[in-house]
Amino acid sequence: MRTITIKPKAITHNLNQVKQRAPHSKVLAMVKSNAYGHGVAAVLPALQQADGIGVATLTEALEARQLGWNKTIGLVEGAFSADEWQQAIDHDISCVIHHRPQLEWALQNIPPAGSATRVAWLKYNTGMNRLGFNAEEVLSVAKRLHESGYRLILATHFANADEREHPLNAMQIERFSSVLATLQATISPDIQGSLCNSAGVINFPEHHYDWVRPGIILYGSSPVVDKSAQELDLQPAMDFSAQIIALQTVSANDAVGYGSHWQAQTDTRTALVSVGYGDGYPRVVTGDAYVTVIDADSTQHYRCPVIGRVAMDMIVIDISNAPESLALDSKVVLWGDAPRVDEIAGHAGTISYELMCRLSIRPKRVLA
Ligand SMILES: *Cc1c(COP(=O)(O)O)cnc(C)c1O
Repeated sequence: MRTITIKPKAITHNLNQVKQRAPHSKVLAMVKSNAYGHGVAAVLPALQQADGIGVATLTEALEARQLGWNKTIGLVEGAFSADEWQQAIDHDISCVIHHRPQLEWALQNIPPAGSATRVAWLKYNTGMNRLGFNAEEVLSVAKRLHESGYRLILATHFANADEREHPLNAMQIERFSSVLATLQATISPDIQGSLCNSAGVINFPEHHYDWVRPGIILYGSSPVVDKSAQELDLQPAMDFSAQIIALQTVSANDAVGYGSHWQAQTDTRTALVSVGYGDGYPRVVTGDAYVTVIDADSTQHYRCPVIGRVAMDMIVIDISNAPESLALDSKVVLWGDAPRVDEIAGHAGTISYELMCRLSIRPKRVLA
């Protein structure tokens, strides 16, 4: 059986790691894209100690409200239409304002005092060059919003926070801090700031400001290039596993799978595992990718390489490491404690975020 097990305790542990690293900031826990593939309903109870959650679309925000989340919800790309702006007001959702049309909706349709939508996350483009007002615009936009009764959080997003020494980081920090200081001096000292994603939380402890916006770190992946999740004391919130459904021996010189991609050097004991790209296991992994087999009888763990092409419904692994007695229905961990999803992402030439977001609906989902 293909199973995705979500571990709320791990998420709470990882949230506490963030809170320890950013003790003076509020935490907007990012749960966009169905909580990075973990399932919003599964993770919200584990995030009770967060100050708010962040999502990318109004639909995601409404879903979280329906699930009973009654604290801050930040819509990080803001409303996409005047109608969405009205719905944000109706459901007490705070919005990013990053371009002129959103500014106009906000000035024409001012939420009641006390409404969460009266808190506007004003996006300043410090160098990512996706969303946000530039330095010339941001002052006047902030002034107009402030005069219309909005409380402001100046926000920006790092382009390279995973690489501490990347030169753009220092520039983004400098631009952000200087504009925030100007807004506080000329408009209101109460204007807040929000700069850091997960990588920023780790790499820029001096620049956490009022709100940090961690995402991937909550799910137990490392957000930075130079430290593993284990080194950062993060626990994986997802265990993706399948089962051995057949045992074989491949004779020397015979090949395995589509394209006859992998050839046995000597007689090799192999196992078929009930998972494939149709479940979200990446089709392209290098020869170094491995799984952990947990013997159904002995509960011993064995590290086994993935061989041959990943197919839609199955993969083949080399079980030379495991004893002949290995049970047919043994559990196979594709990612979880070992290997970590970060390792498989590395073997697949992508990042953990993508692997977890693109899991299909086929695996059974359970809560630990
Ligand atoms: C997704 C997102 C984050 C979280 O990024 P991670 O790298 O997962 O920590 C933070 N801020 C914004 C605006 C985002 O869209």
